[in-house]
Amino acid sequence: MIPKSPGKSAPPVMRVHVNRERCQGHALCNAILPEIFALDMLGIARAIGHGIVPPALTERARIVKDFCPEHAIDIVEG
Ligand code: SF4
Repeated sequence: MIPKSPGKSAPPVMRVHVNRERCQGHALCNAILPEIFALDMLGIARAIGHGIVPPALTERARIVKDFCPEHAIDIVEG
């Protein structure tokens, strides 16, 4: 039997998702985290790059989620 290596497991990946039907275009997400949130021509937000959040930006992503006035941002980790 091969012992399990005590090596590193992959770090969890965080993704953000914008519910575009809820989004009212306040642009807060884009102001705080432009690396992750873009606005379309109508000012509605969308996640850039499949919503994958680099580890260095995860704390800001949580802040954006909490501050979105429309609760339009979901975060999935794992
Ligand atoms: S902060 Fe929320 S409501 Fe405002 S643009 Fe971003 S997702 Fe939309």
